[in-house]
Amino acid sequence: MQLGLKKKVVIVTGAASGIGKQIALAFDKEGASVALADINLAGLKELKAELKNEAYIEKVDITNADACKKFVDNVAKKFGHIDVLVNNAGTAKMGDMQTFPEEIFRAHAELMMYAPVRLINLCLPYFKKNGWGSVVNTASIFGKQPGGLISYDTIKAADIMITKDYSNYCAPFNVNVNAVCPGPVDTPLWHAKGQLGDQLASATGMKKEEAIDWFAKTNIPMGRYAKPEEIASAVVFLSSVPAHYITGVAINVDGGMVKSTL
Ligand code: NAD
Repeated sequence: MQLGLKKKVVIVTGAASGIGKQIALAFDKEGASVALADINLAGLKELKAELKNEAYIEKVDITNADACKKFVDNVAKKFGHIDVLVNNAGTAKMGDMQTFPEEIFRAHAELMMYAPVRLINLCLPYFKKNGWGSVVNTASIFGKQPGGLISYDTIKAADIMITKDYSNYCAPFNVNVNAVCPGPVDTPLWHAKGQLGDQLASATGMKKEEAIDWFAKTNIPMGRYAKPEEIASAVVFLSSVPAHYITGVAINVDGGMVKSTL
């Protein structure tokens, strides 16, 4: 299938690591130019060296509204157009619901709820100018069924509604808006120090890698974590030209973990 992504300009947030990095590589493979935002500039530089097509990187904290505007302006100035936005940056934290710190909840909302909305609004004028555009939000299956991570589950559910609302709002401008809902994915979000693997280990009393493996075997029908490349394939497909009539969906990429038919 021809995906029609050659020369398209694709913004990816949280591109220095994990899923975002594979999304950037997958678009680059399709001949797109990627514009990458992350707080981890060293990671972006490393990634840029692997890309074949023209690319733009910028250290951006997407929770900062001015920084987002500057980034989108810079991307438009460099390439002359913006065609695809992938809202991917995110994080997660386990914690007891009664004592979960409100400031962390708010910070997660800034990062995974307000920032994606802000970036859609900033990109829309460019999509309207093209007469075409595509947005993919990285939500999670925990936006559909609880995973026990109160801030994360809540905000990812909001991301699915943001996707649905914007799909209706943007349809008259020939812009589709979809979400991917990954199940657990083998990325630094699980393995890096202090992240979910360590948090799961302290909750279960297991060693980190043992706890990570146990979680997959007991929760995922396919018995393993997704590879970040497997999430990237779904993102690239949803923003491709042949998939443009698909809008307002939140597609699970989860090895069968969601049990609902919806
Ligand atoms: P990751 O930790 O490997 O990558 C996240 C990236 O976001 C990092 O490069 C980080 O520097 C960047 N980032 C964090 N805060 C930022 C900010 N303020 N501004 C700009 N960039 C920022 O995690 P990942 O597993 O690749 O997760 C990517 C997305 O996928 C997240 O939205 C996450 O919630 C979602 N997701 C992950 C899983 C999983 O199991 N890994 C499952 C479902 C959904």
